[in-house]
Amino acid sequence: MSESMTYPGVVLVTGGAAGMGAHHARTLAARGSHVCIADVSDSSAVVDDIVSAGGSASAHLLDVTDAEAWVRVVDEIRTTRGELGGLVNNAGISRRLEFMDTPNDIWELTMKINLFGPFYGMKAVAPLMRESGGGSIVNISSIAGQIGYFSPAYSSSKWGLTGLSKSAAGNFAQWGIRVNSVHPGLVGTALLGGANDFVAASLKSVPFGRMGTLDEITEAVLFLLSNSSTYTTGTELTVDGGLVSNGLYHRIIAETGELS
Ligand code: NAD
Repeated sequence: MSESMTYPGVVLVTGGAAGMGAHHARTLAARGSHVCIADVSDSSAVVDDIVSAGGSASAHLLDVTDAEAWVRVVDEIRTTRGELGGLVNNAGISRRLEFMDTPNDIWELTMKINLFGPFYGMKAVAPLMRESGGGSIVNISSIAGQIGYFSPAYSSSKWGLTGLSKSAAGNFAQWGIRVNSVHPGLVGTALLGGANDFVAASLKSVPFGRMGTLDEITEAVLFLLSNSSTYTTGTELTVDGGLVSNGLYHRIIAETGELS
């Protein structure tokens, strides 16, 4: 990490009450940003931790599927902080269901949280970010938004988010707002809860042979928020131990043990 790396003064992180979002929030606060943690669950424990450690953070109740609630949260930030330089659209859900097993309500909920939420969010924050002199938006997609993934709701929502990020990057460039997507591989959070056999089998396709750590994902997100990526927009940053690029032949060679 370069000592000259700086981050926006105020950053909004969705889904920051737990998992990777909480780690992004804690790390950003430790590096000097005020972090607005927005979650449908209570994020006051993470805020208290940050404040106890000498950082600055605020909790905002937000269901990302509610466009009006987004406007309310951005108004709160405008009133209390007067600026916004970063948004991490991190809130997301995953139900590991194959196509014919996916109920319509799960399809709709997954699309609403993982794809509609970031759309409402980017629309709500853009004016304040523009007034703040520009900013950086990081959308947390997944490797499931880069390859054919067995679960249609999750995969479609994350592919949608990949495309939405590129579309917004083009629209928002005129305002000095960058938009990029991060694509984590497997990371041990509640999102993977109970799927031990699935995770163990998946790791056989990961050249690094392990899950990613919270720090490894956070560093990618913070790079895209920082002044070290000022010419980077509309791009995909994959953080997966080589799964997307090399998982197939890694597994084939490991299973056959021979190349001829
Ligand atoms: P997590 O389940 O640990 O945390 C998700 C957070 O989002 C929770 O705090 C939850 O309350 C919040 N949330 C859920 N619905 C919400 C809503 N409607 N409005 C506001 N907040 C809501 O998950 P995680 O593993 O930390 O995942 C974070 C992001 O990373 C998600 O977008 C996920 O799809 C993505 N991701 C995770 C993995 C992984 O292996 N864990 C891999 C690739 C991508």
